[in-house]
Amino acid sequence: MSIEFCIETTGGRARAGRLTTPHGEVETPVFMPVGTAASVKGVPQDILEELGVQILLGNTYHLYLRPGIETVRNLGGLHRFMAWPRAILTDSGGFQVFSLNELRKVTEEGVTFRSHLDGSSHFFSPESAMAAQIGLGADIIMAFDECTEYPADRARTKASMELTLRWAERSKKYFQEHKQEVPWKAVVSGQGSGVSENQQSDHWPLSTDHCLTQSLFGIVQGGMDLDLRKESAERTVEIGFPGYAIGGLSVGEPRDRTREVIEATLEYLPADKPRYVMGVGTPEEIVEYASLGVDMMDCVMPTRAARHGLLFTSEGKISIKQARYAQDAGPLDPDCGCRVCQRYSRAYLRHLYASNEVLAQVLNTLHNLSFYLDTMRRVRHSIQLGEESRFLSGIWSRQKP
Ligand SMILES: [Zn+2]
Repeated sequence: MSIEFCIETTGGRARAGRLTTPHGEVETPVFMPVGTAASVKGVPQDILEELGVQILLGNTYHLYLRPGIETVRNLGGLHRFMAWPRAILTDSGGFQVFSLNELRKVTEEGVTFRSHLDGSSHFFSPESAMAAQIGLGADIIMAFDECTEYPADRARTKASMELTLRWAERSKKYFQEHKQEVPWKAVVSGQGSGVSENQQSDHWPLSTDHCLTQSLFGIVQGGMDLDLRKESAERTVEIGFPGYAIGGLSVGEPRDRTREVIEATLEYLPADKPRYVMGVGTPEEIVEYASLGVDMMDCVMPTRAARHGLLFTSEGKISIKQARYAQDAGPLDPDCGCRVCQRYSRAYLRHLYASNEVLAQVLNTLHNLSFYLDTMRRVRHSIQLGEESRFLSGIWSRQKP
C-alpha cells in the first residue's frame, strides 16, 4: 500500500479520517486547492503551508504542455520542482482535454487534441496519461477517463461509461507495470535524477513507514443517469483501486442533480476507501457533500472567484469591486481569522481591486482559500464532536451562537 486511509469518527454518513501519503498526512474531509500549473495562483508555497494546506491538486494537461513532463521528472518530480513537501494529487488530463478542446477526436485508443497554447497536436491514451502522472510523481494519481458531456442521452452516456471502464483497466495495468518509475524513488535511492546532491537533503523527508509508491484512484462516470452511475461504481470497484472519485459533475447540470448523483453513487463505493468528488463546489456545497460522506474535493472556485473580486464570507458572497465598500473601514469578514481580515479594511481591498493592483489578487485569494480551509476544519470538528445536525443545518451559519 502506498496510502493508508483510516476513519476516526463518523457522524451520520459523514466521516472524519486521516489519509497517510508518502508526503505526509491529510485530515479528511479535505478541500484541495488547485495549483493548475504547479502554482496556486498568487500564493507562495510557504504561505500555503501556513494556511494548513495538506494536499494540493496539479493539472497534468497543463504541466504536460508547459513545462513538459520530462522537465519536471528531470528536476526530481513535481514536489521538488515546485518546492512543495506535502501531498499532491494530479488529475489525468482527461477533464481538460474535454473542457478546453473543441476539436478533440476520441477513439478507442485515446484522445487527439490541440494545445490551447499554440494549437499543436497531441495525443493522450490511458497509458500516456499514466506515464505523464508517474513522471510528475504526485502521491495520488487518477485513471484516464472520458468526462461525459452534458446533456447526453442514455446510449451516449452508456457508451462513454463503457469506454471509461476499459480505460480504467488499461490505466491500472500500465500503472502496475511502471509505478516503480516515480521520480522520487530515484531521488531516494540517489540515482537517475538530475537533482544535485545539495538538493537531496533532509528538506524532503519521505515517510519510511510506507512503501514509497503512488496510488492510482479509479473514476466513476455515468453522466446524470443513476442506474449507469451504480453500474459504473460497481464495475470500477471490481477493477479495484485504493480510492474512488466521482467524475463528470459540475459540467452544467443543475446543482440539485449534482447532489442527487453524488448521493446515489456514494452508496456503491466501499466505505473503507477514500471518496473524492472532482471539481466541486461552493462553501455550502462542500459542507453538504462532506455530510453525505465525501472525503476529498477540489475546485478552482475560491481562487478563480478571488481574482474576480468575489469573496466568500460568513455573511455570504461579497463583490469587493462595489462602490459601497469604498469608505468601509471594517474587515472583509469580521468572523474570519485570516491574515487579510486581521489586517486590511474592505475599503483598502476595494481600492486595490479598482486600481488593478497585483496585491488585490493575492489578498483576495488568501482570504478565499482560508475561508474554504476553515470551513472544512469546522466540518471535521463538528464530525468529531458528533454535531452532525449542526453542520448539516449549515456550517455556514458557523460561529453564530
Ligand atoms: Zn479572511
